Amino acid sequence: MYIIFLGAPGAGKGTQAAYVAQKLNLFHLAVGDLLRKEIERGTELGMKTKSYMGKGELVPDSVVIPMVLQHVSAPEGELGVILDGFPRNLKQAETLDQALDQQDKAIDKVVYISVSEEELIRRLSGRRICRSCQAPYHMASFPPQVEDSCDKCGSELYQRPDDIAEAVKKRLEVYSAETAPLIDYYSRAGKLLTIDGEGDVGEVGERIIAALCGENL
Ligand code: AMP
Repeated sequence: MYIIFLGAPGAGKGTQAAYVAQKLNLFHLAVGDLLRKEIERGTELGMKTKSYMGKGELVPDSVVIPMVLQHVSAPEGELGVILDGFPRNLKQAETLDQALDQQDKAIDKVVYISVSEEELIRRLSGRRICRSCQAPYHMASFPPQVEDSCDKCGSELYQRPDDIAEAVKKRLEVYSAETAPLIDYYSRAGKLLTIDGEGDVGEVGERIIAALCGENL
């Protein structure tokens, strides 16, 4: 089973993908997290991606596509995979469809998490991330118990460079131009499930699970 989580930056793709993956026992493939780990480790791939991510631009397809295709058939995904943050443009979507088709597989459903622009900006500007385990927090609505420290592993929290105002503006522009057309692409394929992404994490997560279960996947 392959499920894509689609939505603007700040829509809650990562948070919801983690929630649903845990409840339904699926493998959560978070492409932004993979890229950030490469940067933290200082690898060659990390070096190539850092400047794009910092500016809020998409990392080139030549870097991202092979990385994702390598993970998509990993043994951890045997029961099913949630793709979080991929695809982000038509080229990626078509390449993914072709790669799965060659293995007699296909995307089952696409969960589009819909959130107003005002709420996206509020969420992104207050977001903090654990440097080690990538767990997300929000300074106002979901603060850590100890300031600047992760509840799960105790590591330092930081503000992603692409969550500062200028990069957020760029990311929202890139989303509208490159990623939003995928809503139509998957709708025409009859795979789109649109979910209202406003509300607390558990509420939205249960909406997604109910919609997926209603599809009898
Ligand atoms: P995210 O953690 O999903 O918000 O992604 C953060 C950043 O990682 C994006 O703004 C891009 O720079 C990069 N990125 C993540 N996924 C992709 C992708 N599928 N294609 C290109 N760049 C990506």
